[in-house]
Amino acid sequence: MMLKTYKKNREHLRTTCIERDYLEGKLVVQQLKTAVLMGTIQSKVPVGLASNQIGLSSRVFIALINKKWKGFINPIIEKHSKNIIECAEGCLSLDGKKTYKTKRYEWVTVSRLTKTGRTKKKYTGFTAIIIQHEIDHLNGKLCKDGGCV
Ligand SMILES: [Zn+2]
Repeated sequence: MMLKTYKKNREHLRTTCIERDYLEGKLVVQQLKTAVLMGTIQSKVPVGLASNQIGLSSRVFIALINKKWKGFINPIIEKHSKNIIECAEGCLSLDGKKTYKTKRYEWVTVSRLTKTGRTKKKYTGFTAIIIQHEIDHLNGKLCKDGGCV
């Protein structure tokens, strides 16, 4: 069911998503978490999900970090490594089984909107790759476009 949902919303994948205020963003985070929950029942477990993958156009995504789903509202990459690494990424909105070669920054510092304003945090490793993949989604980019090149 979830996979069908992703495919149904294909036309949204090239959309540049729009910034929201905190309360609207929080609502979208809930919708994304619900979508993941439904997807999990269908056995496909993503590590990240952007709003335009479920047919919305908010600048919001969720990512699985330390086994917990974390919401990112209006995320911005503030800083990134000079070093670029090569990755192989898949996406449930494309063919869930196929992987694409991408280039990603080794680390990123990302700011996002929270209840008390914007906060900043540095992410490394697999989490940094997930975040770059999801922010690409919000800009209408897909991993088959190659990442930060
Ligand atoms: Zn994706």
